[in-house]
Amino acid sequence: AKSGGRGRAERFDDRYAAEAGARLKLDTELRHALANGELECFYQPEIDLATGRLYALEALVRWRHPERGLLAPDEFVPHAETVGIIGQLFEQVLAEVLTQQDAWYDAFGWRPPVAVNVSPRQLNASRLVPMVLDALAAHGTPPEALILEVTETGLVDDTVMTGTLAELRRHGVAVAVDDFGTGYSSVSRLAGRHWDALKIDRSFTAGIATDESREGVVRAMIALAHSLKLRAIAEGVEDEATLAKLRELGCDAGQGYLWNRPAGAAATTEMIAASPHW
Ligand code: C2E
Ligand code: CA
Ligand code: CA
Ligand code: CA
Repeated sequence: AKSGGRGRAERFDDRYAAEAGARLKLDTELRHALANGELECFYQPEIDLATGRLYALEALVRWRHPERGLLAPDEFVPHAETVGIIGQLFEQVLAEVLTQQDAWYDAFGWRPPVAVNVSPRQLNASRLVPMVLDALAAHGTPPEALILEVTETGLVDDTVMTGTLAELRRHGVAVAVDDFGTGYSSVSRLAGRHWDALKIDRSFTAGIATDESREGVVRAMIALAHSLKLRAIAEGVEDEATLAKLRELGCDAGQGYLWNRPAGAAATTEMIAASPHW
């Protein structure tokens, strides 16, 4: 019995060792990626539903891994958050976005507003506000051209979160509640906060055209957004029926595969150039 127990323990040890090894490899490679510019922004339009015009672009990070190809954020953003290099990742994404906006300004005469995802864990960093403001100033970018999307998680002290976001908003940066309705986000957390937009998670958007109870939930979310003077943006719009329903419900903007999948900078520039709305 004793030797059997030890055998099991050894197998567990092996598994933990393998997992620890994989984490360490990811860690080493991700730090290398940050140092060597392997991260890249993809962009996905947010469409104004009243006019059909482009309202903003969301920057979605990708990792061009030398062996594994293009990796989605799920594969490395959570790790970056855990080991405390998410601030560095954000700084690189922001720099790339601001540089790209400069190029669009040169090409089209204006900067499409870009939404950048911010991990709630970063909001504790006192460096965040000056870093964002310095980066905007260095590019001569009007703060209105930047939107920060924050998912509520309950991890971050309310006063810190409110203070950081309020200060950025005071300087003209827009702030959106991301993935509304999931995780720890709740109605009470919206009150007294000053947000500009509320993004309805795609788990709520799906099926509103065919399911009345789902429609009711989204209708209520849009009403909530409007009563707080926030723009309502629906994520995950994949078909015309959903779009028609969102228009009927008075949703302000939408984002989803119906219009575009996230695309690299070159394809996004072509999309902007070909757009009749510019
Ligand atoms: P998110 O902020 O909710 O971003 C929307 C996600 O939904 C994106 O996945 C996008 O590709 C996907 N999506 C867009 N339209 C549709 C649709 O019509 N149908 C479906 N099924 N999906 C759609 P992606 O790019 O894989 O990003 C996943 C998450 O990773 C993001 O979710 C965001 O939370 C996080 N993320 C992405 N970039 C960054 C970043 O730079 N920093 C941080 N902290 N997180 C990021
Ligand atoms: Ca987002
Ligand atoms: Ca989202
Ligand atoms: Ca989402």
